[in-house]
Amino acid sequence: ALKLTDVSLSYGSFILGPLDVAFETGVTAVIGPSGSGKSTLLQLVAGFERPDTGTITLDGRRIDRLPPEERSVGMVFQNYALFPHLSVRENLAFGEAPTADAQETVEMLEIGDLLDRSPETLSGGEKQRVALARALVSDPSVLLLDEPLASLDAPIRRRLRFELRDVLADLDVPVVYVTHDQDEAAVVGDRVTIVHDGSVVQSGPFEGVFEAPDTAFVAEFLGMEN
Ligand code: ATP
Ligand code: MG
Repeated sequence: ALKLTDVSLSYGSFILGPLDVAFETGVTAVIGPSGSGKSTLLQLVAGFERPDTGTITLDGRRIDRLPPEERSVGMVFQNYALFPHLSVRENLAFGEAPTADAQETVEMLEIGDLLDRSPETLSGGEKQRVALARALVSDPSVLLLDEPLASLDAPIRRRLRFELRDVLADLDVPVVYVTHDQDEAAVVGDRVTIVHDGSVVQSGPFEGVFEAPDTAFVAEFLGMEN
């Protein structure tokens, strides 16, 4: 499991935490208003930000003082860049012969025709799909996804959420899936964590949270159209 204990970070007047939250194996959708701290939470786990207080452990191993590349974290972020000087194939780091799993990922994301291209020549949605493939084939101990389908157009986005659910469900690691889209969250996530003003306000299985919101904020937020 991924565990945050007493984790806080402040950016001027915005304060994330102190958070005490655990993400077990399986997919947890993280939802909450814009500016509530969802991406900051992922940045802390990935190691691009350091917490002011608290500890982060992954399968019992403390990771919050490790550099990002030693954390065994796979990630797809809103602004996540591919290596521009490497081909798509090289970005995916599977050389000439992808493994069966990697081949399945390539087919699911329909990037087979892109493997010998340079990232600079790809559209935003194509880059996003390659970034997602790279995270999936890197065999991480935790997978962080920040709006992974956001830059795709609606039909492919709707189709991919179901395929992605099946791929993520097979992973056997904690997956933290940030999205604005509550329908997507309900398809992809087993559980949901709701963030508001830098705090986790409720966590649990989807149905439980929908049927019994802990606060007026949660009830109102879940009732809102996207
Ligand atoms: P969105 O749904 O719009 O992506 P979010 O929930 O991911 O929002 P964050 O990006 O985590 O929100 O931002 C939380 C708060 O922290 C915001 O007020 C934001 O302006 C602030 N913030 C985020 N990153 C930084 C930074 N590097 N420096 C200063 N403030 C920051
Ligand atoms: Mg964000």
